[in-house]
Amino acid sequence: MSQNPTDTFSVTKAETSKIASVDFENLAFGNVFTDHMLYCDFTDGQWGTPVITPYAPMPMDPSSRVFHYGQAIFEGMKAYKDEQDAIWLFRPDQNLDRFNKSAVRLAMPEVPEHIFMEGLKQLINLDKEWVKKGKGNSLYLRPFMIATGHGVIASPSAQYRFMIIMSPAKSYYQGEVKVLIAEHYSRAANGGIGAAKAAGNYSAQFYPTRLANEQGYQQVIWTDDATHTKLEEAGTMNVFFKINDTLYTAPTSERILDGVTRKSILELVKRDNIKLEVRSVLVEELLTAANDGSLKEIFGAGTAAVINPIVGFAYQDTYYELPKQENPIALQIKDKLTNIQHKLAEDTFGWTVKI
Ligand SMILES: *Cc1c(COP(=O)(O)O)cnc(C)c1O
Repeated sequence: MSQNPTDTFSVTKAETSKIASVDFENLAFGNVFTDHMLYCDFTDGQWGTPVITPYAPMPMDPSSRVFHYGQAIFEGMKAYKDEQDAIWLFRPDQNLDRFNKSAVRLAMPEVPEHIFMEGLKQLINLDKEWVKKGKGNSLYLRPFMIATGHGVIASPSAQYRFMIIMSPAKSYYQGEVKVLIAEHYSRAANGGIGAAKAAGNYSAQFYPTRLANEQGYQQVIWTDDATHTKLEEAGTMNVFFKINDTLYTAPTSERILDGVTRKSILELVKRDNIKLEVRSVLVEELLTAANDGSLKEIFGAGTAAVINPIVGFAYQDTYYELPKQENPIALQIKDKLTNIQHKLAEDTFGWTVKI
């Protein structure tokens, strides 16, 4: 099937823009959406014409499968505007690849590359005024797919809708993040869907996270479901530990999401000769390191916040405060990564892709 992808898109532009009503200096994450959205329906075994329309609610049948059996996956990525007004994506191929792996795991159809990539490109170009220059500013991109087939029948849907919505984002100080190490609840299990970016992974996290919140912790550090001895992820982010001079992060597995930020950090620290070990850190090791002073830092890594430094953690009934660092590696890495994303440092990896 050869066709010019740009010809296959149906585009209806918004008559007016909402942009003048948006306070770009005081954006709460993920609350405001741009003027346009994209959708593309899958029926009879094939994808239809991608449609770009003004952002609006959409009618859905109450029996749509997504409401009953949770076939829903998503991605989170960002677009950045450089000083010359060019707009860049960061490793979008990785997001497409992961999206389609999630689709396979949830028995959903894979989305063709041209719909995903060309869809992002056309949508961003239409709403390019929404991408603000300057470090910390970005346009958060949310591709997702839901099962739209009708009927409360517990089997995979025959109809799906792929969509992209976009939200302007500003990096903001998140306050001090303290975490609680999970002893009972799990985010993921072997054979489960933890490695997919599936909506259900998030809903399952809300209750244990709320319990942690009630005890004064903002996030949960998830441990392996079988033994609760291996430290795996921090909230919805991959997690890194600095013990003495070495950085540690767990290998990806069926229980750990293969984060683009995580894998980029691994390449960055290798380039810069920072000591790194990709292996599981045990709760016991963490407690020993916290007690003898060799534990220097803990941070989460993910697209939305990039790096989220953690100030302390609790395990059972004991709280361990991390020592204050002069020049934390977490912030050094964040700076290097965001400089590449904003085209303020040379991208020696070829990660950035111009729109
Ligand atoms: C999305 C996500 C991450 C971070 O992935 P990035 O590609 O870096 O944004 C980490 N853990 C979980 C559970 C996630 O859902």
